[in-house]
Amino acid sequence: MATTSYLYHALGLIHHLLMRTEFRGGAVSYHVARKRKKRFCAGCGAPGWEVVLAGSFTREFRTVPVGRRPQFVVLHGHEQRCRRCGSTLWEPIEFARGKRRRTNSFDRFVVDLCGIAHIKQVARLLGVGWDLVKDLFKQHLKAKLLRRKLGPVRYIAVDEFSIRKRHHYMTVVLDLETGQILHAHEGRDAQALIPFLEKLKRRGAKLRAVAMDMSPAYLQAVRTVFPDLDIVHDPYHVVALANRAIDETRRDLYRDLKGQEQKVIKGSRFLLLRALDKLNPASMSRLTDLMEMNLPLYQAYLLKEDLRMFWNSHNP
Ligand SMILES: [Zn+2]
Repeated sequence: MATTSYLYHALGLIHHLLMRTEFRGGAVSYHVARKRKKRFCAGCGAPGWEVVLAGSFTREFRTVPVGRRPQFVVLHGHEQRCRRCGSTLWEPIEFARGKRRRTNSFDRFVVDLCGIAHIKQVARLLGVGWDLVKDLFKQHLKAKLLRRKLGPVRYIAVDEFSIRKRHHYMTVVLDLETGQILHAHEGRDAQALIPFLEKLKRRGAKLRAVAMDMSPAYLQAVRTVFPDLDIVHDPYHVVALANRAIDETRRDLYRDLKGQEQKVIKGSRFLLLRALDKLNPASMSRLTDLMEMNLPLYQAYLLKEDLRMFWNSHNP
């Protein structure tokens, strides 16, 4: 069934010859040996005619399956004595890394599957351990992280989110143009951010602006590393502050008022926080009553609506 060109094209074994194929318990094993012309010294790179075959060894590697059928490469290899550098070493093995008992193509396949399925599902499909899949995917992500270029980053967003139980926070930095997560660190103090900002600076990022909430820790971190960078507070956080202010005004008034007037204020919280153009006629007339009765609340409401319109404006 299989041929040397199958090894070449399907399994990526470009330096080997197929000796025989073995079928055992639903698995397929390809017994291979290195082509004579492809020999060289793993130590100094001396060509094949400089090496003498010494001892032999057999190593088995798991490779990509066919359907659910596992496949193995069984390498019948040699130790090589090199006349040029004098070392005796195993012949080079390009299709697997280090002491791994899997081919590189198997590892790549695992990582590819992790892009479309959960780690658990990948492990079950391939019949390998969950932790192996997890480790391979993690290595892949780490390598990707190292390759990532920070130089072109121009706009970032910094935010916190809570993890696990309450009071455990993580600081996350996003590239606003690509949506990519650039950095994640436990905690939400300045130190969760400063080392990464310094890295951005070292890698030559020409930051133009950072979007974030009004946390003093983040402000301090940004000012420490990039003193002149534009800081943008997004509307969500600003409007939340304005809404809190209007709510406080309402509560202060409620305490100072009595009887009928107190009743008008009561239950008006959502009325006040709602956008003016979203109110129905009944709510509108309630709002008018409320405003007529009370000047500070009226002012607060107008300020809030002004602010909201400011964020919605398309004209700078
Ligand atoms: Zn050598």
